[in-house]
Amino acid sequence: MGGTFDPIHHGHLVAASEVQSLLGLDEVVFVPTGQPWQKSGREVAPAEHRYLMTVIATASNPRFTVSRVDIDRPGPTYTLDTLTDLRRARPDAELFFITGADALAQIVSWRGIDQMWELANFIGVTRPGHVLSDHGLPRDRVTLKEIPAMAISSTDCRRRVTAGQPVWYLVPDGVVQYIAKHQLYRPGAGQLQED
Ligand code: ATP
Ligand code: MG
Repeated sequence: MGGTFDPIHHGHLVAASEVQSLLGLDEVVFVPTGQPWQKSGREVAPAEHRYLMTVIATASNPRFTVSRVDIDRPGPTYTLDTLTDLRRARPDAELFFITGADALAQIVSWRGIDQMWELANFIGVTRPGHVLSDHGLPRDRVTLKEIPAMAISSTDCRRRVTAGQPVWYLVPDGVVQYIAKHQLYRPGAGQLQED
């Protein structure tokens, strides 16, 4: 499951847990992006902060792991590179790329989409405010799943922290504390530099 995870929240965790259970996956690998090319219009918290919040949020689940492949690769993150690196690390694994309905809608615009079908199956999950559709993508490579509706976004979490509003119960407790400890998303705190 790729994402900016800026910060990781319970919508991500429910999606990962549901797909793990529905498909009987051995492992869900969370892959925080490097500098996200589709989000170049806004500042993104440093990759190490996003990586560590993802580790904190997933640490208690024995089936959840976090990969550094995207944050350790220089330059913008392309999902084709992510899948290529994961395939190299796990040559015998069957790969499933988990995306919310909004990200699936963008999938056709991703670089190297034809090669991506060969590397992984794609699992699209429902997300409040977005229509889940296969967008005419190859039926044998895309599976759509309805999951419990979590109307949470990282954008809303960041805005809440910036405005001094709580993010308790939207993100894991350890992530609330990490955000406070490092003063992330605070106006003028100098924490929102580009990676
Ligand atoms: P931002 O508002 O910064 O874009 P986000 O909440 O969309 O953050 P991302 O890191 O962009 O989180 O998303 C990573 C993946 O998780 C994407 O595939 C996205 O569709 C999916 N996702 C995020 N939030 C939810 C949610 N509440 N329900 C289902 N899927 C989600
Ligand atoms: Mg998003």
